[in-house]
Amino acid sequence: MTPPPPPALAVTVVARQRLALGVASEVGYYTASHPYVPGSVLRGALAAAWITEHGPPGHGNPATDEFRTLFDGHIRYGHLLPDGSHRTPLSVYRCKYPTSDACHDTVVDQAFETGDHCPACGMRLEQSRGDLDVPGGLTRITRTSIDPTTGRAKDGELYANSALPAGTTLSGLIHGYHPWLAQPRTLWLGGRRTVGGQAELTTTPHHPPAAPPAPEPGQPLVVRLTSPAVFVDPAGRPRLEPEPTLDLTPGATLLPGAWTRPVTWAGWHAASRLPKPTDLCAEAGSTYRITGPPDILATLAERLGRDGIGLRRAEGFGSVTIATGPWRPAHPPPQPETDGADPLQALHNKLVDLRLDDPAWRWLTGALRALQIEQHRTGGAPVHADLLNGLLSQPTAADLSGRQRTQLHAALVGLTPATLRDLTTLVLATPAADRRRSSPQATR
Ligand SMILES: [Zn+2]
Repeated sequence: MTPPPPPALAVTVVARQRLALGVASEVGYYTASHPYVPGSVLRGALAAAWITEHGPPGHGNPATDEFRTLFDGHIRYGHLLPDGSHRTPLSVYRCKYPTSDACHDTVVDQAFETGDHCPACGMRLEQSRGDLDVPGGLTRITRTSIDPTTGRAKDGELYANSALPAGTTLSGLIHGYHPWLAQPRTLWLGGRRTVGGQAELTTTPHHPPAAPPAPEPGQPLVVRLTSPAVFVDPAGRPRLEPEPTLDLTPGATLLPGAWTRPVTWAGWHAASRLPKPTDLCAEAGSTYRITGPPDILATLAERLGRDGIGLRRAEGFGSVTIATGPWRPAHPPPQPETDGADPLQALHNKLVDLRLDDPAWRWLTGALRALQIEQHRTGGAPVHADLLNGLLSQPTAADLSGRQRTQLHAALVGLTPATLRDLTTLVLATPAADRRRSSPQATR
């Protein structure tokens, strides 16, 4: 009997060249880039790769049904975010002009907490813009058109673009499964091949964690967008909040006072090369509170987490996460006692010293990727014990000993995005011979 296909694929993309993921609204000569790969871009790049392999879909092409299943069916292509990036939700308020450590530490998530003034300096707190913080940021290149007869820059033909640098690793999810998507391949991401865009894609089966806990009776369900969402009212007019009859469930009510911000989104239809109409979206990081009977909220939480919300979900719009507590910035983990050694190396040595066999090591690499994906989804929250417990209960982890479980727990819970990223890199680069020998520190 063949096992059932996984419900999702975890996607890793490594940029071999810089990625200019053009934002359609160009201001003057400057083309901005999204600091991530939109799901629509991933979907378009995969469709282009499929067409290169099989020819254009349509009458006379026997593989057309596969194309439809992949790109016009129920498979959802999520946004890919740079490793180590995080987004502060729009319901978070902080001190605008911090004058002390106490100011810096002031964080009020109004979806769960009250307060609109800084307790340290008394100034009014400022709402987050929901921007994505990317370690290292974007690179910006300015070019001019050179007049070949004079060798000088032509007047008015200065142009510039920004891009994610080569070497950036991005991750995300494809919701749904098809064997064609499980193959590694080279893709071109972004519309301007003149500035690069080559990237290597790999996928691994992904089993999302169990449904989030429903809110306590009497408490609202708090929903955060992890990608922009397209909402419309029954007449088709855009709006910035879920529409109760279209997006929610009978019995569930949206509380007034959502934290949201509009963002316009234009794109190109990959097949026809024609511009798509501009959609008005609610920006990622928008936060909504929904009330209703506990059983209805629990069902809604499960559905929204699995399916997303709003229109254009196949292109990665409307991904959500359910928040169970106020957002907090990730703090660097406490420094382990390492006799002055590199703490990251010490953490890696601990994992090597567990003497995991090959199947268990494969589980570990998959679990580290799954934890990274979940950190992206939840805006960079430190690794949560519940999530790790879910991964430890996977069938592929069944042969781990009690000691191995305890030590994995101690090593991984609380890791921040940057540490988890670096640790994953070290684990993936560990030669099999080294883990059978155990770490250099242990043999000293
Ligand atoms: Zn302050």
